[in-house]
Amino acid sequence: MKTETDVLIIGAGPTGMALSIALLQAGVDHLLIDRLTEGQNTSRAGVIHAQTLESLATLGVADELAARGLKIERFTIRDRDRPLVQLGFGGLPSPHPYVLMLPQNITEEVLAHRIESLGGIIHRGVTATRVEQDAKGVRVTVTGDGGEQTLSARYVVGADGMHSVVRQSTGISFEGGTYEASFVLADVHLDWPFEQSEVSLFFSPAGLVVVAPLPDGSVRIVATFDDAPEDLSISEIQSLLDTRGPITARAKVRDIIWSSRFRVHHRLVKSYREGRLVLMGDAAHLHSPAGGQGMNTGLIDAVVLGQVLAGIVKNGKPDSSLDVYERLRRPAAQEVLGLAGRLTAMATTRGALKRCLRDALLCFVNINPIARRKLEMTLSGLSRAASAKLPDKHSAAA
Ligand SMILES: Cc1cc2nc3c(=O)[nH]c(=O)nc-3n(C[C@H](O)[C@H](O)[C@H](O)COP(=O)(O)OP(=O)(O)OC[C@H]3O[C@@H](n4cnc5c(N)ncnc54)[C@H](O)[C@@H]3O)c2cc1C
Repeated sequence: MKTETDVLIIGAGPTGMALSIALLQAGVDHLLIDRLTEGQNTSRAGVIHAQTLESLATLGVADELAARGLKIERFTIRDRDRPLVQLGFGGLPSPHPYVLMLPQNITEEVLAHRIESLGGIIHRGVTATRVEQDAKGVRVTVTGDGGEQTLSARYVVGADGMHSVVRQSTGISFEGGTYEASFVLADVHLDWPFEQSEVSLFFSPAGLVVVAPLPDGSVRIVATFDDAPEDLSISEIQSLLDTRGPITARAKVRDIIWSSRFRVHHRLVKSYREGRLVLMGDAAHLHSPAGGQGMNTGLIDAVVLGQVLAGIVKNGKPDSSLDVYERLRRPAAQEVLGLAGRLTAMATTRGALKRCLRDALLCFVNINPIARRKLEMTLSGLSRAASAKLPDKHSAAA
């Protein structure tokens, strides 16, 4: 591995890989490192939205992602058997008028193949331990097979997730908190009474359960769970569906492929950069899984940041161009945090009166086409399209 570069990306999760593709396409010299010796290979984020696919089209990966995923046009919120809101994505003003269900490990596989096909490399088993900057550049101490060494870069991007060492080295505050409810997530095989072309979200006094089909015929279950056990059993998932899902037509869990429990944080950095150090993805913002926005927001960060860095490195634009990245992407993350927070609050509402008010509000949205379309545009990210694209005067070529 060379030790000097224009851009060092720390973290080869989905956002770090997407940025690497953008820089490879623009001919920007860079290094991509990750402490893991191989990709995480777990299902995690299962949704890619229309705006994200439009952004990823610029990286040459949208078609393959779309081909490997399952295109869902309908999203229904129910209170047990009673439909409250039915959203349809088929009429979205986008080349991708659907929600794409695709496990994160497949998304990462597609991104990694694209890096390889462009001649890029992911340097794995390399951990960044110290990050120091001065007016001329950044020095990053890394450890790996070859022991400790120092990498020098003009810019360093922290794509290193929620415990980002880059963020910690800047001292930028990561403001927010942790939701009270914890969540479980499981990919299962299921006999399911509803169509496989719908994502169903069930509200019930016992809590929330989401049922979403995945492309391999399995089904993603997400649910709130007090004191979730580390590994869920079939009977625990069955009980979640029995007590929260449909009453008249029962679902039956056949087996569990993968499961995980997690606490959900809502946090946003005060600033997206400190000098030559820039943050993106989970290093900059953490969301509830409600609405499936976390990874999506990070992937669009990467596309925008790639254009900004190409403008600086290849076209001599000033460092201050990085401020445009923050001006576009921080408000977008703030909006997404608000959306995920409202959805989480609705989903975890307790108390009969509050639940009645929530259901009445959702029924109003259902009969009001303008309110329905607004929600579809917000969930798909299309309402935030302006934050996903550099204004022409800031584009790399301008
Ligand atoms: C159980 C679970 C379910 C989820 N469900 C959803 C969902 O439904 N929808 C959604 O949109 N999102 C979901 N997410 C969130 C989604 O997985 C993240 O938003 C996404 O992975 C963020 O990508 P990232 O590239 O920013 O960070 P990460 O994926 O966290 O990648 C960071 C990378 O940096 C590397 N790294 C960290 N520190 C260092 C270091 N010091 N040196 C070198 N490398 C380092 C790590 O090894 C890792 O590969 C879920 C997450 C979890 C855990």
